[in-house]
Amino acid sequence: MRICPRCTKVLEPMVVESVTVEGCRGCGGAWFDRGELDDVAKHDPAALERIDRAFSPARGQPAAPYSSMRCPVCLDRLEGFEFKHFPGVQMDGCRKCRGVWADHGELTEISGRIAAHRNPP
Ligand SMILES: [Zn+2]
Ligand SMILES: [Zn+2]
Repeated sequence: MRICPRCTKVLEPMVVESVTVEGCRGCGGAWFDRGELDDVAKHDPAALERIDRAFSPARGQPAAPYSSMRCPVCLDRLEGFEFKHFPGVQMDGCRKCRGVWADHGELTEISGRIAAHRNPP
């Protein structure tokens, strides 16, 4: 059982593109194990938006500050980084297991950037 680094609710599994991601119905964020985010982004960027929509944040749910977020797998502190293909999208990752946490809205942002990249205006 994995716990949301933001609001400490239990994460729920969701299968997309044969990858099992885990989302939070409290804050609407999602956890990706090592390489999973790249996999989904590469094969079906629109699936990122579906994940974002599937886990919409509950109203009035206070989110923990970034400084106290811990990896749901190894409980190490998560560190902010920019998604390597898309500078400017700030995410949080674990150095130990290489998992990535996406806050609600970040996946839609990434998906939008991939679409813009593939189909320039
Ligand atoms: Zn949460
Ligand atoms: Zn970890």
